[in-house]
Amino acid sequence: MARQKFTKAHGGYAKQENAADMFKEFDATQLYCPCCKQAVPVRKRLLLVLPEGNKYEYLCAFCSETVGTKMDKNVVQDSIII
Ligand SMILES: [Zn+2]
Repeated sequence: MARQKFTKAHGGYAKQENAADMFKEFDATQLYCPCCKQAVPVRKRLLLVLPEGNKYEYLCAFCSETVGTKMDKNVVQDSIII
């Protein structure tokens, strides 16, 4: 159930283009971990629920260090809910 929701939210995010966003192509399958000193697979974790969207945190799969965060805008989800 949660997985389905994630897929929809991610698809909505992919349509957005933000030139000012340094994480433009931030797909979060692999990120650099300062602890492991290499690109590592990451786990996405919901960090904050805000009116404008959900903030997610990416954790290193090996040492659980935080390696990045991302905002998923809520606009798309609102239009999906019937
Ligand atoms: Zn690590």
